Amino acid sequence: MHYTPANNRYQKMEYRRSGNSGIKLSAISLGLWQNFGHVNDFENSRKLIQTAFDSGITHFDLANNYGPPPGSAEENFGKILQTDFKGLRDEMIISSKAGYTMWDGPYGDWGSKKYLVSSLDQSLKRMNLDYVDIFYHHRPDPETPLEETMATLNLLVQQGKALYVGISNYKTPEAKRAIDLLKQMGTPCLIHQPKYSMFERWVEESLLDLLTEEQVGCIPFSPLAQGLLTDKYLHGIPQDSRAASGSISLHESDITSDKIEKIKALNEIALHRNQKLAQMAVSWLLQKPQVTSVLIGASKASQIQDAVNAVKNQQFTREELQQIENILAQ
Ligand code: NDP
Repeated sequence: MHYTPANNRYQKMEYRRSGNSGIKLSAISLGLWQNFGHVNDFENSRKLIQTAFDSGITHFDLANNYGPPPGSAEENFGKILQTDFKGLRDEMIISSKAGYTMWDGPYGDWGSKKYLVSSLDQSLKRMNLDYVDIFYHHRPDPETPLEETMATLNLLVQQGKALYVGISNYKTPEAKRAIDLLKQMGTPCLIHQPKYSMFERWVEESLLDLLTEEQVGCIPFSPLAQGLLTDKYLHGIPQDSRAASGSISLHESDITSDKIEKIKALNEIALHRNQKLAQMAVSWLLQKPQVTSVLIGASKASQIQDAVNAVKNQQFTREELQQIENILAQ
């Protein structure tokens, strides 16, 4: 079926500047980590991308290894771009990453120049693109000198294969070194992609302060703690949920009674705000001044709509914020 994007898509979304760069990202970004591999229903993946774009989401986040099998999310996304998004490339911010295991042998993992250069070449071929907008080093490499990894990010920008670069999963001291190195090379770090949600708050210890100081953007991943911060697990584990799907990242055993108690209490606050918990978890991140965009995942189009609607309700009273803190501290 032919796809025509919604005319009013840019009226539905807010766009926020990443650090002190020229780039604004949609307040909600869509990640293709799960639900876009060859194991998934291609027509559903296609519908998710269309729904996102129709809602004003401009930023799509990928990585070399997303699937399964690894690489297949990029292949499917490339196919969707070819079919539905011809002529729309300049309205999209597409990212990819390398840093986790992608192929056998010593050159398919971590942070060497050899790995990053060949991996980005492979990603571009899979997506049938000339360049990505953002290329990330996916995780720090304790063995490769950071100078080599950051020089490679700079090289890829010089070669025109990436417009901007970012880092992901870097703790504060190594993020500071990476940001400094990139600055010296004249390719500033656009954005940091950390895990951050009501249930995962390590970034608040010092990373957010660093990003503010350095004027680098922040795009939290797994903002719903992979679906835990929703009302879906309140009455058991639904068949069509990530926890029931045999996912390697979320297990039934992660849904503890302690977590359920917190989720119930948070859900009550969300309902008082006329939101679903899934929406409040997104709004809670959006009201943090350091957050550029919230990077969601989705298995259904309605989940994208939920997140997009959360953009309209970002105000929290002091009491609400305190109640949330009290629940999370229990
Ligand atoms: P989320 O925490 O947003 O979890 C998404 C999942 O939660 C969905 O697939 C769905 O799972 C469930 N969900 C979403 N919305 C709703 C809703 N309204 N109601 C009920 N359930 C809902 O994010 P992800 O963990 O998927 O991560 C998002 C993105 O972040 C990834 O795609 C990737 O781009 C990036 N990422 C980056 C990493 C890195 O190391 N840099 C690591 C991990 C992710 P279901 O319906 O199947 O239960």
